[in-house]
Amino acid sequence: MRLKHIKLSGFKSFVDTTKVSVPTNLIGIVGPNGCGKSNIIDAIRWVMGESSAKTLRGDHMEDVIFNGSTVRKPVNRAYVELVFDNTDGSAPGSYAKYAEIAIRREIVREGGSKYFINRTHCRRKDIHDIFLGTGLGPRSYSIIEQGMVGRIVESKPEDLRVLIEEAAGISKYKERRRETENRIRHTRDNLSRVEDIIGELETQLRRLKRQANDAERYKKFKMEQRELDSRVKTIKWSALHSQVQERDIELERLQTEFESQVSEQRDVESRIEEMRQQQVELTEALNKVQAEYYGIGGEVAALEQSIEHTRVTRQQQQEEFKRLAEAEREATQNLALDQTRLGETEQHKLELTPIVEQLGGQYQKASDTFNKAEVDYQQWQEEWERLNRDAANPEKERDVQSARIEQQDRQIHH
Ligand code: ATP
Repeated sequence: MRLKHIKLSGFKSFVDTTKVSVPTNLIGIVGPNGCGKSNIIDAIRWVMGESSAKTLRGDHMEDVIFNGSTVRKPVNRAYVELVFDNTDGSAPGSYAKYAEIAIRREIVREGGSKYFINRTHCRRKDIHDIFLGTGLGPRSYSIIEQGMVGRIVESKPEDLRVLIEEAAGISKYKERRRETENRIRHTRDNLSRVEDIIGELETQLRRLKRQANDAERYKKFKMEQRELDSRVKTIKWSALHSQVQERDIELERLQTEFESQVSEQRDVESRIEEMRQQQVELTEALNKVQAEYYGIGGEVAALEQSIEHTRVTRQQQQEEFKRLAEAEREATQNLALDQTRLGETEQHKLELTPIVEQLGGQYQKASDTFNKAEVDYQQWQEEWERLNRDAANPEKERDVQSARIEQQDRQIHH
């Protein structure tokens, strides 16, 4: 496996996507102080699983994301991808078949890191396993940064041993040994747990045997109980059967009685029906009698009224008769009186006849005078009416003119 190129985006000073090619086995990166050379080494370490922010020269892991400059805003996401040439198939395990292996790590602000191998999401350990024994890794000797040579020369023998073992490829076997030892320890733990479980199961087995014996005895007793039950039930059944037969006979008797009661009930019902019919007829007769009674009552009331009326009329007639008798008596008295007066008047008439004749002549004269005065009066009356009519004409004319003036006033006002 050989590193072909490094791709960075949003990582430290590499805010834009940048591709650093590694065309040969020996290359150098040169540039002025602070141009970002060490950031490339940090990127390689980070993508291989470095988990210490201090080793990457920051305080927190998120410090690897571009945090802005005077001319650019910060970004929220960074990734670094290492692309290895694997045409020699030296990659371990299932990765040997790939001609190219791309290792990628991404980080999002407040979102943590994700690892990918050939764009497939994976664990940090998977990446660690690929480079185990190759000399590559977040803190391996293959990445020699500024000042590292000095640190190696001055390092303690134990630290130097780690480096030499890694270079000799021993670290891979050491790691496997550590893993195997871990597995053995786990297996031992599992074995002791299994022994505990066996002990527990033996206790349970003893208890189950006891329970099985109890169950066996229970089954025997149950069988006996069933047998006794069936005997008891047979005895009860016989007793009940004879009871049922007695009840059947009683039931038959009650059935016959019931039927005779039903026929009696039907007779009573038909009698009730007849009586109901009679009741209807009697009610109709009663209604009729009542109607007649009320009719006669009305007639009696009318007769009583008529009798009362006759009595009142008779009383009135008696009073009228009394009054007429009185009047007749008075008339008889008046007649006698009038006859006396008539005689006197006859006498007086005889005395007045010459005076009357004299007065008749005077009356004739006065009558002629009166007739003439009447004619004069008639003429005078006609004259008076003509004068009135003449006098009324100016008044009418005045009324007409007043009405016209009023109408014209109203029109002017309107
Ligand atoms: P020297 O030769 O002095 O060691 P160098 O070339 O190795 O320098 P680096 O240390 O890799 O340079 O890069 C430092 C530069 O990276 C600084 O200018 C710093 O501002 C910038 N830098 C580091 N981290 C970030 C970040 N998270 N966001 C933006 N810029 C960053």
